[in-house]
Amino acid sequence: MPESPEAEVCARGLSRLITGYRVAEARCTQPGRIVSPARDAAAWADGLVGRTVSGVARRGKRVVLRFDDGSALVFGFGLRAEVTVGAAEPEDLHGAVLWLSGGPDGGVRRVLAFDKLALSTLALERWAPPPEGPPLDALDRRTDGSALAALGRSRTGLKAFLMDERFVLGIGNGYSDEILWEARLHPRRPAVSLLPEEWARLAQAMRRTLQAAVAAGGEIGFLDPFGAPGRFERRIHHHGGEPCPRCGQPLAALVSGGRETDFCPVCQVL
Ligand SMILES: [Zn+2]
Repeated sequence: MPESPEAEVCARGLSRLITGYRVAEARCTQPGRIVSPARDAAAWADGLVGRTVSGVARRGKRVVLRFDDGSALVFGFGLRAEVTVGAAEPEDLHGAVLWLSGGPDGGVRRVLAFDKLALSTLALERWAPPPEGPPLDALDRRTDGSALAALGRSRTGLKAFLMDERFVLGIGNGYSDEILWEARLHPRRPAVSLLPEEWARLAQAMRRTLQAAVAAGGEIGFLDPFGAPGRFERRIHHHGGEPCPRCGQPLAALVSGGRETDFCPVCQVL
């Protein structure tokens, strides 16, 4: 599943490809994904037409297309993050398509297409700046050890804490395993038990892991809006039973609620 690094790479690509373009037409074949205006594909499409993209940003695992009139199109990814921009019509009708025209380079037509597995939510709303304070963004430089420590005051396990969008935005099941391994912290360690230096280590591991994934263009299997493949290789998540890249002992796998957690029982003691 795509997380904040893939959303960041997608937002940067879209920013270069469609900023300055105007929406000429829009269509969505998955009204169940539209949360605003709720499940109304016709109103959603009508609301977009005529608006010009003034910029593209990321918020947690979501991508925000800002328009010149103060509105925004916010989308979250489904199983994949395939959002492509091309000049041609999509070969088959995707989950959602925006036809764009009148760009800064002389009006070349562009087609922004979401794969039918690429969308979890799609909302047309007023743009508002991110709130000060929690939830913190995992890729934000201000999310340091003391900022995390201020939120981690319960006995919640660290993996659940990192994935809880009331605290931190942008981390899912996959990257949380990589981050906790990097920080040498057990996924079920109660958040409230961490010492200040362990929070600092966790924040550093989070930044290092997610920034490496952004620099690699997202994880393997992901395609950016230019069609370039991601190169970030997960070393821990879904590698249960294989040797730990640090100590060589077998990685352990816990399965709970259909979700897999992988970690090293030697490097990450409870
Ligand atoms: Zn190990």
